[in-house]
Amino acid sequence: MVTMEAPADEEFLLALLNTTPTVNGQRRDLLAEDADARRWLVERLGEASAPADLGRLRGTRDTLQRVVAQEAGPEELEDALVEVARRPRMSGSGVEWHLDAPPGTEVPARAVLAWDALQRSARSRLRRCANPDCSLYLIDRSKSGNARWCSMTTCGNRMKARRHYGRLKADEAAGG
Ligand SMILES: [Zn+2]
Repeated sequence: MVTMEAPADEEFLLALLNTTPTVNGQRRDLLAEDADARRWLVERLGEASAPADLGRLRGTRDTLQRVVAQEAGPEELEDALVEVARRPRMSGSGVEWHLDAPPGTEVPARAVLAWDALQRSARSRLRRCANPDCSLYLIDRSKSGNARWCSMTTCGNRMKARRHYGRLKADEAAGG
């Protein structure tokens, strides 16, 4: 049973979505090998983190990616919540919510609950990077709500440069 921490789980959700980066035009899966996936989990959730059913974690990630891309409906995430319960407990500061989940299912369930909380608090602020050659996601925390790149220093500048280059080519073609 774990205490749920919304901001931490939000970061975890984003990190999970970003485990399939595109490197040199190839989509890579950082969780493809069990040993790599376990190391990745320990880095993010700590040594004491509950062991995760890695197959379920990968499946939940794939579905979450499709839901964010609007290629699947949220109901397809149901599998990640089977037998999962949230229990309130009193603490010195009030009610704390704990997640009660069968062995191996806690981590994917937390990712789905974090996705849901994000949807409710900041609708559609979780999105895919606008660079078509990039397969990463971002949580838009800008005031204007129009952040488009996973990272300004990589994708943002690259896409701006490409647009600039595209304009130069168009000018050349027009004889300018
Ligand atoms: Zn990107």
